[in-house]
Amino acid sequence: MLSYSHQNIDRSDIEVVSTALKQDFLTGGKKIEEFENALCEYVGVKYACVVNSATSALHLAYRVLNVNEKIVLTTPMTFVATANAALMAGAKVEFIDIKDDGNIDPEKLENRLKKDSKDIGAICVVDFAGNSVECDKISALAQTYNIPLLDDASHALGALYKGEKVGSKGDLNIFSFHPVKPITTFEGGAVVSNDKEKIEQIKLLRSHGIIKKRLWDSDMLSLGYNYRLSDVACALGINQLKKLDTNIEKREIIAQFYEKEFAQNPYFATIKIKDYKKSSRHLYPILFFPQFYCQKEEIFQAFIDAQIGVQVHYKPVYAFSFYKELLGEIQLENADKFYKAELSLPCHQEMSLQQAQFVRDKLFEILENLGPKHG
Ligand SMILES: *Cc1c(COP(=O)(O)O)cnc(C)c1O
Repeated sequence: MLSYSHQNIDRSDIEVVSTALKQDFLTGGKKIEEFENALCEYVGVKYACVVNSATSALHLAYRVLNVNEKIVLTTPMTFVATANAALMAGAKVEFIDIKDDGNIDPEKLENRLKKDSKDIGAICVVDFAGNSVECDKISALAQTYNIPLLDDASHALGALYKGEKVGSKGDLNIFSFHPVKPITTFEGGAVVSNDKEKIEQIKLLRSHGIIKKRLWDSDMLSLGYNYRLSDVACALGINQLKKLDTNIEKREIIAQFYEKEFAQNPYFATIKIKDYKKSSRHLYPILFFPQFYCQKEEIFQAFIDAQIGVQVHYKPVYAFSFYKELLGEIQLENADKFYKAELSLPCHQEMSLQQAQFVRDKLFEILENLGPKHG
C-alpha cells in the first residue's frame, strides 16, 4: 500500500544504529549533544534540546514559557498535541481561524490581540504541511504585544522562509521525528532556540529536574519528567539529517509533478507555495471544491480500495469530544471548510514518478466516476 508519507531508512541508517547499539551507553551518552549540535547548525540556531517526542518538546516549551493559568492562542488545523501540551502545562487554549493554506490567519490573530491581549501566555503557530506561516507578520505581532512565540514546526524541518530555516524565528521552536515527519528517530522531537536560559531549563526538566553535584550527590530542583531521547535514536537522527535536503528535493519533484498535472482542473485546488518560501513538502494537500464535500468519504474509500493511502489533515482540534466538553461547541468558518475540503495525497521520497502518475490517474478516474450526490 502506498502511504501518504513514509520514512527513509537506508543501509547507512542501519549501520549507524547497529554501531550505536554496541556502545557502552545506549542512552545518556555523547550522541545526544552531537545530534543537538547538528540540529543547531542545520537550522541556524544556537541551542537545542532533543527529547522523546514533539509532544514532550511542546509540553516542556509551554512549561518554561510559564503558560500556567494563562491563555494560549493557537491554530485548530493541527495534530491535537499542539493544544494538548498547552493544557498539560496548565494553560487555557483558544483557537484562531486559519487562511486558505491551512495556516493561522495573522489578521484574525491581530484582531484577537487588539480586542484584549491580557493573560495571553503564548502564541503557538504550526507550519501546515511544511509551508511556513507568515513569519514576519506573526513575529511583529508577538513583539508588539510582548507575547512569546512558539513555532510547532513539526512538519517543517528543512523548510525556508525568506532564505532562513523555518524553526529559527520563534522564541522556541518544535520539531517532530516521528516516522511520517521529515526525519525520524523512531519516536523523537526537539526544542530549538537562541535563548540559552530557556533551553537550559528545558534540559533540566527533560531528566527529572535533577542536577549532578559531587560523587553520588545530586539535587532535584524542579518537578521534571523522563523525556530523554536515547543515544541509539540520536545516532539515527544525525544520519537522517544528512539526507534531509536530498529527500526534500525528491518530495519537491513529486509535488511539482502534481502541481503541473492538477493545474486548472474542475474538481479541486492545490496550495501554491509563495515565492519567498520553500516547503518541506511533508504533506501534499488538495482542497476539493464545495460541490464535492459530501462525497469525500466515497473518494477516500475508493483510494483505499486502490491501495493508495490518502489521509485527511486535520479534523479541527475543537471538534474532538474532549475539546467540546472543555470549550463547548466552536465553529471557525475557514477551519470547518478546510476540513471538509482537504485530502493529503502520497508525497514522499520513497515513491516514484510512476507511482505519482498512478495516483493522478486514479484521482481523476475516481472523480469522473463519482456516484450521484448524497448527504
Ligand atoms: C506530529 C505532530 C506532533 C506530535 O509529534 P510527536 O513526535 O508524535 O509527539 C505535534 N504537532 C504537530 C503539528 C505534528 O504534526
